[in-house]
Amino acid sequence: MAEFKQNIVGILGGGQLGRMSAIAAARLGISTHIYCPEDHCPASLVTPYFTCAEYDNEAALEKFAKSVDVVTYEFENIPIDTVRFLKNYVPVYPGEQLLEVSQDREKEKAFLNNIGIPTAPWAPITSAADIEMTFGKWGIHEGVLKTARFGYDGKGQVKLNEGDDINKAWESLNTDKAVLEGLIDFDYEVSIIIARDLKGQCAVYPLTRNDHRNHILSVSTAPVHNEEIEKQAASMARKLAEAVSLVGVLAIELFVTKDGNLLANEIAPRTHNSGHWTIDACAVSQFENHIRCVAALPVGMPGLHSKAKMINLLGDDITKLDDYLATDGANIHLYGKTDIKDGRKMGHVTIIEK
Ligand code: AMP
Repeated sequence: MAEFKQNIVGILGGGQLGRMSAIAAARLGISTHIYCPEDHCPASLVTPYFTCAEYDNEAALEKFAKSVDVVTYEFENIPIDTVRFLKNYVPVYPGEQLLEVSQDREKEKAFLNNIGIPTAPWAPITSAADIEMTFGKWGIHEGVLKTARFGYDGKGQVKLNEGDDINKAWESLNTDKAVLEGLIDFDYEVSIIIARDLKGQCAVYPLTRNDHRNHILSVSTAPVHNEEIEKQAASMARKLAEAVSLVGVLAIELFVTKDGNLLANEIAPRTHNSGHWTIDACAVSQFENHIRCVAALPVGMPGLHSKAKMINLLGDDITKLDDYLATDGANIHLYGKTDIKDGRKMGHVTIIEK
């Protein structure tokens, strides 16, 4: 009898991105094996295979690697050593270079600028004196100071205005390595998501506009009707994807300046919150494309069929579902999290409109 066999995809990390990737994989008949240090994590509830172990547990990692055909990750703070260890057994996508660059804001900005992708003006910082010196050089005494590593959703960053106590700001970050960025008076924020398969074929998703609440993504709207900006963003995404020989999905968060130019703020070597709407408004979602690319299938064209507005359910927003349950065109996605915390991403709703 003929056999139809699909790869098993191992995913490091068990949050909502892993969960939605596992669901997309299941639709393609692909099994996932989630590896996560926390039990009962969102992805563990929807996957046939699950390992609960730390990222430095070599025995567990070896067993995991031998049970899958390929490994990917759903968040960027996976230790590089974990990836290096796994690579002795199976391919890991996206590759180490992209992971390393996206883990450190200094490396990230240097890399982006090197390949011709503009960012806000920035400088590496290792002391309060560096901040004074940089402000002196710029002739402007305001900016955003960000820890080089482990910052997200506005955590690990502080805005500096003229006259602020620089020593206090530096100490508040409690780090030995940071970057200082010029404050961008942007018009609005967007992101672009690209998928690239093993043969180098790419699919770029329509540009998404992002609105934040307390530095956390609140609403994403797509598509953005600005051909010029979209062209610029897509070209940056292609340039970056080629430069790192991307296999999988990556996102670039960007500022649209008042004069209509784009500055890259951050890259994510994975599926992105601002692309959740692609599940309901595209033929092939960012999650399906990520799985396709790492599992050696061809990338799919997005096939946008609706306009979309994605609303994150943060903290106790999840207790107020009644309106969404009654809304025409509302697609509700909950992540299986039971502990409500302020600002925690509990789920999202995508409202589609033809
Ligand atoms: P980040 O943690 O770098 O993604 O920053 C979180 C949010 O802070 C961004 O989405 C912006 O709204 C704001 N932000 C970050 N960097 C800057 C900057 N250089 N100028 C103005 N706003 C910024």
